[in-house]
Amino acid sequence: MEPVLYIVVPCYNEQEVLPITAPMFLEKLRGLTAAGKIAEESRVLFVNDGSKDRTWEIIKELAAADPHVLGICQSRNRGHQNAVLAGLMEARDRCDITISIDCDGQDDLNAMDAMVDAYRDGCDVVYGVRSSRETDTFFKRFTAQSFYKFLSAMGAEVVYNHADYRLISSRALREFANFKEVNLFLRGLVPLVGFKSTTVAYARSSRLAGESHYPLKKMIALAVDGITSLSVKPLQLITGFGVFVAFISFIGCLWALITALCGKSVAGWVSMTCIVCFVGGVQLICLGIIGEYIGKIYLETKARPRYIISERTWEESGR
Ligand code: UDP
Ligand code: MG
Repeated sequence: MEPVLYIVVPCYNEQEVLPITAPMFLEKLRGLTAAGKIAEESRVLFVNDGSKDRTWEIIKELAAADPHVLGICQSRNRGHQNAVLAGLMEARDRCDITISIDCDGQDDLNAMDAMVDAYRDGCDVVYGVRSSRETDTFFKRFTAQSFYKFLSAMGAEVVYNHADYRLISSRALREFANFKEVNLFLRGLVPLVGFKSTTVAYARSSRLAGESHYPLKKMIALAVDGITSLSVKPLQLITGFGVFVAFISFIGCLWALITALCGKSVAGWVSMTCIVCFVGGVQLICLGIIGEYIGKIYLETKARPRYIISERTWEESGR
């Protein structure tokens, strides 16, 4: 029997692009159904991530016009990762496979055919990997590539050039639901779930309309989240650095002692100040990095809900 597919699409302030891409998702769903790859009960599930524009109204209109469209609305903006999670968890028990994809048309929908084929060949997770970034600006390409390199240098294992375009089977999702962490970095967590996986390459095009919600600031925040929620390597680096500084200081002290003993010591406040500043700076950096982890522990101990759905298109709001 064909698997039931749910395409999970996070949307935040996407009123410009949604009317263009929603028909494309539906067309793809129809194509896959007609090709006998997926079941007729398959759906496109839009997740409104607390948009401030008409996005939720558009999703409701789409759902009213076509039974293949479903929508859920988060009670407020929680960010891309939480929106994808909300969609995946909502879809988990209704389908056999989910594919998460951005709603801006940047990811090639045709890669879904190969993803579903890979699932039918026994893979539970299929990562969409960008084969080219020609349409990205030099700046976006450079920052994005540095992002992946930095992550792996810091010990956070991620699939290179893979964003959040991926197929996950409901079996893998049920296991994934047991990862209770609040600091979400899906592309680092999914590989931890395991199961047989593969990659499908596709060309990334430019946004069809609207603007990116991932400026440099958010990308840096995502990278820091990714590293600190997946790896303790920075803590080990601090220790290594501390040992190195201690060693240099030891040599410095030895040298100072020898010059003092030889009676050649000069009262130099410059060297003093340099050392105090340097050590002070190093300590602050180290405290900052440790603080980053403590902040994470603080948030994890609260165990706040990771998403809150206020409305669904297939039922009246919970009043
Ligand atoms: N998105 C979201 N919540 C946010 C920011 C973004 O759900 O707070 C969605 C957005 O609607 C899009 C996807 O996440 O579908 C990726 O965002 P975007 O295309 O702006 O990022 P980029 O592709 O430029 O990295
Ligand atoms: Mg995009």
